[in-house]
Amino acid sequence: MFYATITDRILDTIDGMEIAETEPCMQCGCRGMLELTPEQVAALDAGAFIQEAAPEMPAELREQFVSGIHPECWTKLFG
Ligand SMILES: [Zn+2]
Repeated sequence: MFYATITDRILDTIDGMEIAETEPCMQCGCRGMLELTPEQVAALDAGAFIQEAAPEMPAELREQFVSGIHPECWTKLFG
């Protein structure tokens, strides 16, 4: 993992949602952003896996959180 802790990834807080940066995507090379709730950030900070911290998050966004690969880029790579 590129980021030491989840809080290193938080760029901003907008309307109570934490904006987390994701790692450069291996398809397009761009970083991305995901919205997380403060509760999800707290769970991740406590060491939870993303699927535990955000079970309701779509799987493709959890994949982006882990690997940085955007959902649309995942389709291009592995479609
Ligand atoms: Zn991408």
